Amino acid sequence: MFQDRSLPKPDPILEEVRWREAVRLETIRGVSDIEERALAANLIGLLVMSLSALALPQPHRGVMIIPLVIRALAIQSTRFGWRRLRTELAKPDVTEDDIRTPMDILQWTLVLGGASWALCFLPVIIDPPMHPARLGIVGGVLVGVSLVSAMLGPSTRLVVAFNLGFLGTLATGLLTAPVFLGWTSFLIILGLVIAFVAYAFASSLQRKSAAVTLIEKRRLADELSRSLALSEFLVRRDPLTGLANRRSFFADSAEYPAGQRPIFLLTMDLDHFKKINDSFGHAMGDRVLVETGRILTSLAEALPEGPHLPVRMGGEEFVLMLHGMGREAALETAGTLLSHIADIGPSLDRTGKLATTGSIGIIELGREETLDQGLARSDGAMYRAKSRGRNQVCV
Ligand code: GH3
Ligand code: MG
Ligand code: MG
Repeated sequence: MFQDRSLPKPDPILEEVRWREAVRLETIRGVSDIEERALAANLIGLLVMSLSALALPQPHRGVMIIPLVIRALAIQSTRFGWRRLRTELAKPDVTEDDIRTPMDILQWTLVLGGASWALCFLPVIIDPPMHPARLGIVGGVLVGVSLVSAMLGPSTRLVVAFNLGFLGTLATGLLTAPVFLGWTSFLIILGLVIAFVAYAFASSLQRKSAAVTLIEKRRLADELSRSLALSEFLVRRDPLTGLANRRSFFADSAEYPAGQRPIFLLTMDLDHFKKINDSFGHAMGDRVLVETGRILTSLAEALPEGPHLPVRMGGEEFVLMLHGMGREAALETAGTLLSHIADIGPSLDRTGKLATTGSIGIIELGREETLDQGLARSDGAMYRAKSRGRNQVCV
């Protein structure tokens, strides 16, 4: 019962929902990592297009200034959106709720981003005369739009926002141009965009599966550490009372500082415990053991000096190892313990028929004495208390 309280079982449906959310967050994190490293590519693209615009004959050179300025603003605003998103993603235990607002902002900055690419495109495709510098702008836009689409691929929402911004602006521009070009150029560009987006989705599959692998690894690591915690608990603790067990008693007592003298070993065995099981049932026997564990724990915490170590050695036998307390205080503690044990019966059974008593042996551990030897002496004292009629302390 103790183990259930400290290590709750996970709810499978909740786990599944959390797992999916973790995969989505990891996917976005992957996209954001690529974006962070793509600033140089973005700026080089802007530079190539600006130089190409300078090489254009007038009036196109002048016309290109506005779209290039808008392109620079779009780069700024999308970077702001990504930065806000990254700040949220860097927080521990981030949820999808936390990134909702940054994702909304980012979506709209990407619409602007797509529109800014189309605005750079329009002046050079609307006007028929050919000039070599047009190649720099047309190529720059097509490469830029395809790279951004491929980068955003794993997030459907962001890739759609970006391409809607691009295609919407392009269609509006072509329709309102002084010279109507017909739909041919729009359809050609639409075909190219569909190709980019198809490639974006294809390449995103691999990145999504990388996110799944990462989350799966993290989950396995979590499960492993839970299992380790559980086995550590079971190795060192008694699962019924939560007290240290016999093995942990020998391991932990070696870790106490040598100066914590004197050490008293107090061994307690519950009296006629078999009768309690026989008359009131095994479950009642367990409850008496749990109560005894609770009493020992709170007593050990409340006593001065210490640290004091309460242990369930097995069955209905307990040990309390007292550090740094004098002989009188140790004897008084034994008496207090017996009076608390006597209170268990009436508290668990209203009929007054359940009597709980214990027999205690107490010894001071000698400087040259091992724990085993001390325990054997303290056991001996406890058996003397039994033979003298039980419910008493023997030194
Ligand atoms: P004495 O006063 O001489 O110590 O008599 P006793 O009946 O307490 O001692 P005995 O050794 O004859 O019986 C101990 C009983 O404790 C036997 C065993 O079934 C019971 N017991 C041991 N571990 C548990 C446990 O975890 N839960 C319960 N309910 N009973 C246990
Ligand atoms: Mg007993
Ligand atoms: Mg016993």
